Amino acid sequence: GLTSAHAPAATRTTCGYCGVGCALDVVTADGEVTAVLPARDGPVNQGHACVKGRFAHGYLTSPERLTCPLLRRYGRLEPVGWDEALRHVARGLRAAIGAGGADAVAAISSARATNEENYLVQKFMRVVIGTNNVDNCSRLCHSPSAAGLTASFGLAGGTDSFDDVERADCLLVVGANPVEAHPVVGARLLRRVLRGAKLVVADPRAVGLALHADVHLRPRPGTNVALFHGLAHVLLTEGLVDEEFLRERAAGLPELAELLMDYPPDLVEDITGVPAEDLVAAARLYGRARQPAIVYGLGVTEHLHGTDGVRSLANLAVLRGAVGTDRGYGVNPLRGQNNVQGASDMGALPDLLPGYGKVADPAVRSRAEAVWGVPVPERPGLRIPDMFAAARAGALRALWVIGEDVCATDPDSNRVAAALDACPLVVCNELFLSETARHADIVLPVASWLEKDGTFVNFDRRFQRVRPAVPSPGEARSDFDVVHAVAVAMGSDIGCPTPADALAECGRIAPVFAGLSHDRLDREGAVPWPCPDPDRPGEAKLYKERFATPDGRAHLAAPPYLPPGEHPHDDYPLLLVTGRRWAHYNSGSMTRRGGNLALDPVDFLDLHPDDAARYGVRDGAQLTVESRHGQARLIARVSEQTAPGQVFSSFHFPASGVNRLTSSHADTVTSCPEYKVTAVRVRVRRPV
Ligand code: SF4
Repeated sequence: GLTSAHAPAATRTTCGYCGVGCALDVVTADGEVTAVLPARDGPVNQGHACVKGRFAHGYLTSPERLTCPLLRRYGRLEPVGWDEALRHVARGLRAAIGAGGADAVAAISSARATNEENYLVQKFMRVVIGTNNVDNCSRLCHSPSAAGLTASFGLAGGTDSFDDVERADCLLVVGANPVEAHPVVGARLLRRVLRGAKLVVADPRAVGLALHADVHLRPRPGTNVALFHGLAHVLLTEGLVDEEFLRERAAGLPELAELLMDYPPDLVEDITGVPAEDLVAAARLYGRARQPAIVYGLGVTEHLHGTDGVRSLANLAVLRGAVGTDRGYGVNPLRGQNNVQGASDMGALPDLLPGYGKVADPAVRSRAEAVWGVPVPERPGLRIPDMFAAARAGALRALWVIGEDVCATDPDSNRVAAALDACPLVVCNELFLSETARHADIVLPVASWLEKDGTFVNFDRRFQRVRPAVPSPGEARSDFDVVHAVAVAMGSDIGCPTPADALAECGRIAPVFAGLSHDRLDREGAVPWPCPDPDRPGEAKLYKERFATPDGRAHLAAPPYLPPGEHPHDDYPLLLVTGRRWAHYNSGSMTRRGGNLALDPVDFLDLHPDDAARYGVRDGAQLTVESRHGQARLIARVSEQTAPGQVFSSFHFPASGVNRLTSSHADTVTSCPEYKVTAVRVRVRRPV
C-alpha cells in the first residue's frame, strides 16, 4: 500500500474528468505515471474511482501531444518558439482592438482548467482587453442550473452535500445516467437504493439506475416541464405539501397552484407519454418520503426551455419543504466536467464577476475595481453562441479558445467551423491538434490536469487541490502561465504570480470564497463554498436559516410547458438524444488516447429493435444519420435501452460528426443548446 515504507512516491490530486471530484493518488516513476489509485480518504470517492480517473492517463505520453507552439503560415500550422507565437498573439489582439474596439475580442475559458486559471482568464479579458466577452462551456451544459437555482433559491449551486443526499429515503434521479457518466456517484446512489431508499428515475432511456427503480418515468424528450408540473399537481391535490414551509419560507404558491390546474396526470400523459398511474405513483413516493432528494443531469438542462425545467423541478422540493430543512436534501445538479462549477464561480461569464455578482451592478463592479485598480466594463459580454454569430457577421475579430474543442462539442458544428474560419485571429490552447485547433491561427501547447497546480470545485461545491504529478512535455505550459505570458506580451502585468495568489485575490472580490486558501485546502482536503471565514467551515447544506434570494424566500416558478424546438416528422422521423458513455469523456481527446479506447471503440447509434426492423438496420451496420443541419456516420447498436422512435449517441469521437446533427436551438434564458432533441433519419451505408 501507499503507506508502506517502500511505497513509491504518490501525488494527491483531484480527478480531471467528471464533476464528482474523486481524490486520486498518482504514482510516478521517472517522470511518468505508473498508476492512479483512488484515495481511501477521498471526501467524495471514499476509496473508489472509475475507469476514466483510474486508467485514462495514457494520453500524457501520446506522441500526438503538442510540445511547441504552432503558427499558421501560408495555410499550414508550423512549429515556432514561444516568443514568436506570443508576439503574433499580442499583435493580433491589438489589431482586433484597433479595428473593432475591445468588444471585437472574446475568450472561451474552460471548465477543464483550474479555478485559478479561470480567474486569470476573466481578469485578463476585463483588465487588459477591456471587455466582458468571456464565457465558459457551462454555457453548453449547466448554465440553466445556475440561472434556475439562483432564481429559485439564490445561489448558483446544488443545495446539499452529496453525503447528505446519500441519507435520503427517496431519490428522484432525473435526466442523468450516473452509472456511466458519474460512476462513483452512480455507485453510491445504487448502494443507497440497495439499502432501502425508494428510487424514481425520470429519463427517456432505460439508464443503468432505471433497472433498480420503483418507478421509471420515460417522458418524450423535450417534455420535462409538463412532467414536473404533473408531479407537482399530484403533490398539491393529494395534500403532499409542507404547508408551514410554504407559508413561512416560500413565495409564488398562488400563481403556481393556478397553473397546475392545467396539468392533471391524464393531460400530462398526452404530452409526455408517461402513463398517468406511473406519474401518480412517482409523486406519492417523493411526496410521502421523510427526507427525499433530487439529483439531476443534463437531461434537464440541455433543452429549449432548460431553465424552466430546472425551476419546475425545484418547485417539487419547495412544495415538499425538502430544501433548506432537515426534511429533505434539496435539488442537486450532477456536473459533467471536472470544474464546470468552478469556471463559473470564478466569473468566467459574460454577465457575472467572480462570486456571481452582476457586472451591470455598479456596487459589484466597484468591489472588483478596488482590487484590480482599473474600471470594469459595464456592458455584459457575448455568450459562446453569440461569439460564433458575431464572428460569422465580421464583428468578432479575435477569439481565444482555451481547452475546449468547440468544433467537436458545440452544436451545429458546421456553423461553428464557419465562424472560426471567418474570424481573423483564432488562438487555441490545446493538448492535441483538435478539430478546433485545426481551424486556429496560433495553437499554444498546454499542460493537462496531471501536470498543474491549483484547485477544482466539484459538483457539490467542494474546493479541492490539484497538484502536478508529472512535468509537462516539451515546451507545454499551464494555462495559468500562458495567460500571464500573453498579458506580458501585451505590455501588462496582471498580478497573481502564483495560483495561490489568484485564489486569495478572488476571495477579496467574492466574499463567498474569502475563507479559502491553498494552505487551508492542503490542511483540510476539501472545503465547500460559501466559505466567507477562514476560521469556520464552509456550508455543505445551504439555506438552513434563509434562502439567498433578496426576500429570503424560496421562489416557486410557474412557467407554462412549451414544446421543444424540433419534432419528429415524415422526413426526420426519429428523435436523437446525445450523452456520455462510461469509458470516455466528452470529445474523448484524452480517453481515446490510451487503454479506454478498447472498452468503447466508436460512437454507436442505439436504436430500438422496432425501429431497427422498420428501417432495415441490423446490429453493427454502418449508418448515415442525417438531420436538417448535417450528417454523421455511426455504427448501429440495436437495444431496448432506447425507447421506440428515439435514438441515442455519444459524442466522444469527433470524426463521427454527431454534433454536425444537433441544432442551434438553445435555452431561451441562458443559450444552453438543445442537445437532447434533434429530429433525424437513418439509412444503412454499409450492411453487416
Ligand atoms: Fe471520479 Fe468522475 Fe474521475 Fe470517475 S471520472 S474517477 S467518477 S471524478
